[in-house]
Amino acid sequence: MTTLSEFNVRTGGQTDWINITSEVQKRVASSGVREGICVVFTPHTTAAVTINENADPDVPHDVNLALNIISPDRREFRHGEGNSAAHTKSSVVGASLTLIVTGGRLLLGTWQGIWFNEYDGPRTRKVNVRVMGE
Ligand code: ZN
Repeated sequence: MTTLSEFNVRTGGQTDWINITSEVQKRVASSGVREGICVVFTPHTTAAVTINENADPDVPHDVNLALNIISPDRREFRHGEGNSAAHTKSSVVGASLTLIVTGGRLLLGTWQGIWFNEYDGPRTRKVNVRVMGE
């Protein structure tokens, strides 16, 4: 069986991490899939989805600090919107995740959460979830 669903994420700042683990888990549970996979996808070019620590809020802070070092705003950027640093972070972090579903739940490590990463907010963003399996 397979299900496809969508939900919105309202981001609060230019850079923002929103924990979407429970939203995704809810969709896995309602899909009825016990064993399979779950794809999380965001259809945006200046945002991303990632798996990282869900306990210490300093982790998102520090990862954002590192990404700002990797991709600072640069005078040489040509893109007229002026948000090329955000486009770069979106590509580095990625627009989709593939997760394992077992026993009707996402297989995640104790300290892992699923995060929506905003790099050009605040905005209302979409997340799509495909759950496939039996
Ligand atoms: Zn742009």
